[in-house]
Amino acid sequence: MGPARGTGKEVTAECLCIGDELLIGQTLDTNSAWMGQELGLSGIRPVLTRIVGDDKEVILEALRTARADIVLMTGGLGPTKDDITKRTLCEFFGTRLVRNAEAEACVISLFTKMGRKAHEVKPADLAQAMLPESCTMLPNKLGTASGMWFERDGRVYVSMPGVPYEMMGIMQNSVLPRLRDLFHPPTIVHRTLQTTGMGETLLAERLEEWENNLAMEGIHLAYLPSPGLVKLRVSTYAGADPTEAVARVDRQVALLYGLIPELIYGEGRQQLEEVIGGQLKELGQTLALAESCTGGYLSHLITSIPGSSAYYIGGVVSYANAVKMEELGIASDMLELNGAVSRPVAERMAEGVRKALKSDWAIATTGVAGPDGGTAEMPVGTVWIAVAGPNGVTSSKGVFMGTRDLVIRRSAIAALNMLRKELIPVRATAAE
Ligand code: AMP
Ligand code: MG
Repeated sequence: MGPARGTGKEVTAECLCIGDELLIGQTLDTNSAWMGQELGLSGIRPVLTRIVGDDKEVILEALRTARADIVLMTGGLGPTKDDITKRTLCEFFGTRLVRNAEAEACVISLFTKMGRKAHEVKPADLAQAMLPESCTMLPNKLGTASGMWFERDGRVYVSMPGVPYEMMGIMQNSVLPRLRDLFHPPTIVHRTLQTTGMGETLLAERLEEWENNLAMEGIHLAYLPSPGLVKLRVSTYAGADPTEAVARVDRQVALLYGLIPELIYGEGRQQLEEVIGGQLKELGQTLALAESCTGGYLSHLITSIPGSSAYYIGGVVSYANAVKMEELGIASDMLELNGAVSRPVAERMAEGVRKALKSDWAIATTGVAGPDGGTAEMPVGTVWIAVAGPNGVTSSKGVFMGTRDLVIRRSAIAALNMLRKELIPVRATAAE
């Protein structure tokens, strides 16, 4: 008996990640996170992830106790002796390894593409084409380990290599389309809003009333926080008419824009540095940076966007006071009187680099990234950020939590967001 097809019932999945390296923390399991996200977008509900070592008995036990409709396995498919998943699958399904002609053709094609002759392919690589007799082979265009698809007692079992990009290729080309064909999971309609400027808890408080009404509308809201940012994913299951579901999600998103207009900076996978790039490009204006505590990280973010040369002039990493004085024209009295981490110094840094590099806009950062150097009045994480532009300079202080790395990342996000907000009214005026 095959799996129930198109019953409209919820379809569930579990991930079984195999590999000793995952258990001892040598490799972080990113496969299950990626698979969970893709399953969710396909209308399949991930219910459990298990990580097991390259250990036959433990893998067998995990397979025997699987309860979801779909079991997605990764890992243990390498040509080396420590990888035992294929033999274990043979035992579980009561089958044996046989030469799979299609898999062999894939392995040979992979090597001939790299300039090797077919007869030069090593026996260990050819052995990768030995697959359990009862499986359906799923081609792997990027490596020698094929994917394998089994069906038994209404459940689907898929085994894929552990290498993330190989797994992703097999999932996208074979597994997800096959699962959709077999189970007809409900379609999910969703929009993701990117926010910054307010932590998850405060944000949830602010959205409480709106959120309470979502269940009635059949809408689900997920908070996805990362340092300095919170993504809001608004989703619903679509019935026979997806346009109705799209309209329902759009309506709630419109309400959300009304509730937190200043916090939303983009949608989908959009990043702050990308949004700012778009704003500056539209205005035809330029940016320069004076970075102290962010040490060039802001510059890295800005230049990670393709086409940033259209608006980014450059920056000064003014880490030492001498550089603040010599390159940005800050008076030694000002540094002595206020200290390097202060409003006047941040403002002068921004104005100084704007003048020196002749840009329209400039951002400056100066702060205590830690772990040392904090005081009672100025704890670790204190950062002054200034934005200078055609109409003068503004500044604000943040106290960012976490390790040195997190303080740097959070202050960079806050700095980008400050510029974004400065640019909104300028763009509105320019558009009139
Ligand atoms: P394998 O299929 O066991 O030969 O896996 C090959 C490589 O893929 C391993 O050495 C890991 O670096 C990587 N890998 C395996 N499982 C995972 C996982 N769950 N998440 C991320 N990387 C993985
Ligand atoms: Mg392995």
